[in-house]
Amino acid sequence: MRYQAATERYGSMKYNRCGRSGLKLPAISLGLWHNFGGTDTFENGRAMIRRAFDLGITHFDLANNYGPPPGSAELMFGQLLKTDLAPYRDELIISTKAGYHMWEGPYGDWGSRKYLLSSLDQSLKRMGLDYVDIFYSHRPDPETPIEETMMALDHAVRSGKALYVGISNYTAEQTAVAAKVLKELGTPLLIHQPKYSMLNRWIENGLQDVLEENGVGSIAFCPLAQGLLTNKYVAGIPTDSRAARNGFLKERDITEETITKVNKLIQVAAARGQSLAQMALVWALRGGRLTSALIGASRVSQIEENVAALANSDFTQEELDLIEEILK
Ligand code: NDP
Repeated sequence: MRYQAATERYGSMKYNRCGRSGLKLPAISLGLWHNFGGTDTFENGRAMIRRAFDLGITHFDLANNYGPPPGSAELMFGQLLKTDLAPYRDELIISTKAGYHMWEGPYGDWGSRKYLLSSLDQSLKRMGLDYVDIFYSHRPDPETPIEETMMALDHAVRSGKALYVGISNYTAEQTAVAAKVLKELGTPLLIHQPKYSMLNRWIENGLQDVLEENGVGSIAFCPLAQGLLTNKYVAGIPTDSRAARNGFLKERDITEETITKVNKLIQVAAARGQSLAQMALVWALRGGRLTSALIGASRVSQIEENVAALANSDFTQEELDLIEEILK
């Protein structure tokens, strides 16, 4: 049967303004890095995307290299756009990126204008789209002048192939330069996509200030530390987990020290009537400094659980202090 989006899809999601732009993003967005590739079960990915949209998740985050194999997550999403989501295109914020290795030779990696603009054309083709909503430089390129990378982003917007631009994995200093160059070009930097969670707080050390000064929004990737900030690994590594399935979450990252912290955090979350996954997400969003928490998922139930976190997003000072004490 043809997919019909839930009529109450805008009932409970929270939408946050992205920096000083006109765009709002859902407090929780869904990324297609894992579990939506050519080697994954299409129907599971489809069910997750449908459920996400039904719950008010309007933002889906991709990159040229998501799969495996690279490119296949965009193909999968393009397929779904055709069969399920085409009537809702104007309700969706679709992002993609270029910056990591994608094809052989000197033009298939990093941050040249040549690579970024060719890659964007390929992404649009794979997804069957005329434009993406956000196009990112996926990582800074130490060998390409930042001006060239930003001019490529600006061109993507001027040529109608992207509505907004973003950067990912740039330091605070690089972000300040990127924001300045883009401002001069007349295409403001919409958003930064950094790694951020209870277990990785580097953005609190300067980047968040630069973003606020420049009116740039932020969307945190790996807010659950790839699943570590859930109850998933407290009794070992389940066979159906990311750590067991591929090398992105490494066994060596699941240390005794981390699991001790996780167990304590689970208790704090329980006292709030939440799972740790839920508490970790609203913690990342606390104080309104983050526009959106960009989750991954391997099944529909995780998306449901994670979105439900927003029903309890306030913290008492005691809870925040206790969490700081545990994370110390
Ligand atoms: P998360 O930290 O949210 O980890 C997601 C994983 O955590 C899921 O695949 C699942 O693991 C587990 N999980 C999620 N919810 C629950 C739950 N309620 N209970 C138990 N386990 C849960 O984010 P990701 O690492 O997946 O990254 C999210 C997105 O960020 C990516 O899809 C991508 O769009 C973006 N990203 C961007 C990067 C960049 O350089 N810009 C780099 C990395 C990611 P399991 O599969 O084991 O069930």
